[in-house]
Amino acid sequence: MLLTITTTHKPATDLGFLLHKHPDKFQSVELSIGKAHVFYPDSSEEKTTVALLLDIDPIDMVRGARNLSGKEFTLGQYVNDRPYVASSFMSVALSKAFATAMNGKCKDRPELVDTKMSFDVKIAVLPAPRGGEILIRKLFEPLDYKVNLQRHILDDKFKNWGESKYFTAELSNTITTKELLSHLYVLIPALDNDKHYFVSQNEIEKLLEKGKGWLETHPEKEQITRRYLINLGSLTRQALERLNDGEEPELDKETGLTQEEIRKKETLDQQRRSLVLEQLIKSKAETVLDLGCGEGKLLRMLIKEKQFSKIAGMDVSYNELTKAKDRLHWEEMAPKQKDRIELFQGALTYNDKRLEGFDAAAIVEVIEHLDENRLQSFERVVFECAKPKTVILTTPNAEYNELFKNIKAETMRHTDHRFEWTRKEFEEWAKKVAKNNNYKVEFLPVGQEEEMIGAPSQMGIFTYGNQST
Ligand code: SAH
Repeated sequence: MLLTITTTHKPATDLGFLLHKHPDKFQSVELSIGKAHVFYPDSSEEKTTVALLLDIDPIDMVRGARNLSGKEFTLGQYVNDRPYVASSFMSVALSKAFATAMNGKCKDRPELVDTKMSFDVKIAVLPAPRGGEILIRKLFEPLDYKVNLQRHILDDKFKNWGESKYFTAELSNTITTKELLSHLYVLIPALDNDKHYFVSQNEIEKLLEKGKGWLETHPEKEQITRRYLINLGSLTRQALERLNDGEEPELDKETGLTQEEIRKKETLDQQRRSLVLEQLIKSKAETVLDLGCGEGKLLRMLIKEKQFSKIAGMDVSYNELTKAKDRLHWEEMAPKQKDRIELFQGALTYNDKRLEGFDAAAIVEVIEHLDENRLQSFERVVFECAKPKTVILTTPNAEYNELFKNIKAETMRHTDHRFEWTRKEFEEWAKKVAKNNNYKVEFLPVGQEEEMIGAPSQMGIFTYGNQST
């Protein structure tokens, strides 16, 4: 694995002073899994290039306690990309080989530390999982890098195997050496899905130290932190808290959430309702049910749409229904409007004639409030008896919880939630229900999707009678 840094700053030989590595010497540093060599393929006043070559022993790597690459398949322990790609090893090598420069020191020429130089960096092989080119650009471009990427095909003898996840990256920028090295130190492993070393508290310290002065304001701060800390929820959360100025945010007494989380939740609620409305309109339904309507926020949107001639809201809670009536200004409503809407109390786990004959039903963030052993009754009530042509159903995506700071892993978003499903669990359940009742089901994410963990909430759109076999 090779990384080169070239400068045309005048005199370019300053780079040797800055890196504390003499241009005429071939030097090596020991790493726990091999060696890193530093040498200068080019060294003149006009142009100096320093190369960092990693020489990793893949066998050594899996023999020690650091066996991480082979977790998926045994052969993977011996056949893996680690020796060839720029990964977290490259960070370790950078920090070992250029420790002084990374700390912003220069013994012989201290004035160079603050000198911005033009740099061209070439990383021979950079792995970029899902999101590929876009992800690399998103990480480097906000820091003013010019990014040039060349994607490699999997095997030039077998072109039809298609493209690989590996890129050769050329990055250009005019910055100080310390900035350059710390960007590379943090961003290279942030691109690597297969981090090799144990992620510990210590890693947060390194991330914050190396990210100082630029990571706080990077638009992809969250993604970089999460990826650098290999998606470990609680470490990421701690790191983000400290990046966001270190202070513990004040929590809302009622909900236990931060102000920012409350804002996010509100916008998510709005996004969800808009998406539900959009789907109901698209379904061409004229009569709609809002099951578990709560305080009637969706009902208020439905009543504004002329397409819906009959709207019914049902909830098990009398209290919520009272709030819904208030929200709808029920008492002052014109008789014509009143005729369109109906509110009644009922439970989704008991058969109910009042639910029959509607074109569509919305069931928004409700099923997770039912006991899991009552789900079958719910399925019968909605899909077997009420049987609307369209059912729009949403439920939280449990995978997303790690991003809500104040939810500890393994706990749920709301105290009344009886379960929360991952995307896979939800899809399995929904497909089963659709199959048993002659519905077809499609899925949509609700809210901003994040890599690996998906969106905060998820939607199933069931359509009767279209079952694909
Ligand atoms: N759909 C609304 C409310 C979601 S909160 C919204 O999106 O804002 C869940 C609602 O489901 C609560 O109002 C709760 O009273 C209701 N609910 C819980 N169990 C129910 C059941 N068995 N039958 C009907 N409603 C139920």
